[in-house]
Amino acid sequence: MEEHVQLKEITALQARIKTQFPENQAALVLDALALAEQAHAGQKRMSGEPYIIHPVHVADILMDMHMDYESIAVGLLHDVIEDCGLTQEDLIARFGTNVATLVESLTKLGKLKFVSREERNAETLRKMLLAMAQDMRVVIIKLADRMHNMMTLEYQDPIRQKQIAQETLDIYAPLAHRLGMFRISSELEDLCFKFLHPADYESLKDALEKMLAEREPWMAAVRTELYNHTVSLGISPFEINSRTKHLYSIYRKMKKNNRTLDQIYDVFAFRVIVPEIKDCYAVLGEVHTIWKPIPGRFKDYISVSKANQYQSLHTTVIGRYGIPFEVQIRTFEMHQMAEYGIAAHWMYKEGVTSPNSVDKRLNWFRRFMEDQSDLQDAQDFLDVLKTNLFLDEVFVFTPKGDVINLPVGATPVDFAYSIHSAIGNRCVGAKANGRIIPLDQPLKSGEIIEIITSNTSRGPSRDWLHFVRTSEAKSKIRAWFKREDKEENIIKGRDMLEGAARRLGYTLPELLKEEYLQPMFKRYSMSSINDLYATVGCGGLTTNQVLMRLIEAYKRDMGTEAPPLAPAAGSLTPVHAPPQGGHSSQGVRVKGEENMLVRFSNCCNPVPGDDIIGYITRGRGVSVHRADCPNMHAPNIEPDRLVEVSWDNAAAPVSFKAEIHIVSQDRARILADISIAMSDMGVPILGVNAHMAQNGLAIINLVCEISDTQQLAQIVNRLKRISGVQQVHRTGKQS
Ligand code: MN
Repeated sequence: MEEHVQLKEITALQARIKTQFPENQAALVLDALALAEQAHAGQKRMSGEPYIIHPVHVADILMDMHMDYESIAVGLLHDVIEDCGLTQEDLIARFGTNVATLVESLTKLGKLKFVSREERNAETLRKMLLAMAQDMRVVIIKLADRMHNMMTLEYQDPIRQKQIAQETLDIYAPLAHRLGMFRISSELEDLCFKFLHPADYESLKDALEKMLAEREPWMAAVRTELYNHTVSLGISPFEINSRTKHLYSIYRKMKKNNRTLDQIYDVFAFRVIVPEIKDCYAVLGEVHTIWKPIPGRFKDYISVSKANQYQSLHTTVIGRYGIPFEVQIRTFEMHQMAEYGIAAHWMYKEGVTSPNSVDKRLNWFRRFMEDQSDLQDAQDFLDVLKTNLFLDEVFVFTPKGDVINLPVGATPVDFAYSIHSAIGNRCVGAKANGRIIPLDQPLKSGEIIEIITSNTSRGPSRDWLHFVRTSEAKSKIRAWFKREDKEENIIKGRDMLEGAARRLGYTLPELLKEEYLQPMFKRYSMSSINDLYATVGCGGLTTNQVLMRLIEAYKRDMGTEAPPLAPAAGSLTPVHAPPQGGHSSQGVRVKGEENMLVRFSNCCNPVPGDDIIGYITRGRGVSVHRADCPNMHAPNIEPDRLVEVSWDNAAAPVSFKAEIHIVSQDRARILADISIAMSDMGVPILGVNAHMAQNGLAIINLVCEISDTQQLAQIVNRLKRISGVQQVHRTGKQS
């Protein structure tokens, strides 16, 4: 029965709609009201009231802001899709695409999780809200919705109260503030204040009321004087009001500056609102004759045009009893702008709501957003400028509705890696709003991005490094390749050890006993046999170094004496030692000698293709140098110890260490670019040593593993092409 009695709120709203809008517009809004009533029938709010009270109040708030008829309709319908299973098509058919799209955007916003764990995140969410709202009315309606939820917050349980109030304070109130909607932002802040700090709220409220009561006669006198003087100027109509700063802003100021209420002198201000700009200046002249202005406190935001469109004259004067106060003088139009900010653009004016004029005003808003002019005294309205909206970030959604914030130009691959490296590594495709897009396509704000992964994916592509924008994606892709290289090295290392063991007459399994391995693991900080394989595979240890130790342990175990050990670890330059024996050693023939122990010099690191020369050392065989090695031409060289040596091309492929010296501008990521170039060429880097020199130069010494001089020349050429690189040469070479 109850449902048939029309709620008085509904009756009042119907009347208001009919008087406010022309017939055709009113008809649409009333139809929206009827649909909302029907859709929410039987639903209750936490307060126990019928649910329809909520959208009706949201519509009321929007009407207070003088929003256009479409906004009012959307205010009424904002919860219908979510709560009542109505479809987008239903709404388009009945209300047109504008209303339907706005309702859909609000529904989408409602699904987002706005949990602000930290200030940075809150800022992200605020910016995202703005960036994704193609139509700013979405944000305004959302704020009206939040306003009513805050007004009825007392019906929520205490935990939800704090959560919602905190979220409002972190996200919605600052957002309203930035959009110049000072009225909404102050009301929201005071409501949050009440629920978040109830004791402080009550005591400040009492103190302010008391102060106001004490000052009232004084304030009345100021108002009367302002009134009489404005009348004497022949201005009509006009408005004079006095205002107090809202509670939360007083509280914030007290906390920030550690002041008491008495020490805050701009608690009171007076406002004179007049029809025309010339009236503003006339009133200003009067004010300055009645009271003494404080020098330096006069601000003309009318003649000095500001990008923010906030316009007003501000002056601070000394009143009776020496009490300073501020007077703000502005036209009615300026006043609307100051109260409602961005919302003033949709303000309903009979007969003038052509889409064209709305667009023009929106252009102004966009320009305003991009304007970087001085922000100092344009009040916080201009804060929005500081956020560089739309300029450097995009906001996209996961299919679950989480917001992901990425730099402009970020691609689906960046998105995938920001979710999880496993998603990035297995990414094979991407969809934006359900449509397949290329992996290098820049993302747009508001898109819902879905990453297609495959378990059979062979991993990221090195090409991705050319288009990803985030350092996170870059480093994760690189890490993958590093791991990938490790896998390869494990296989390579095991094969090398197996072969070498066989040639020495052993099998790998008999040598790889836990107790033989442990001392070596400890010595080289390895945790598994795979680490050992990988180290051998990448050339960190030679097969000889490993096998000699294992064979020694094996023989000790079996009760036989081990043969003498190979040369000490680290003394051999060739990274992969070929099998011992045969007519050449480590790929080098020594003229007239067989099975001569050969080592490569560390001073010039010869590689196949170099002209080389041997030097017979005492007890350590022949040391091989490049023919042009300065050490071989030093005065202390004994010529009769020089011996002719040559490369043995028939020997098994051997890798060699080469050191490359790079001089580059000291720019960010130079090392990263070098290592990408090296890994693109498939050249392992064994060591890097970089330091800053003077003149903004960086000196980088790179030790890498190569097979011959031809490859070395390729490397040098490639490195020279990296931007900022000035010189590349092989260490030791005279050039
Ligand atoms: Mn709602």
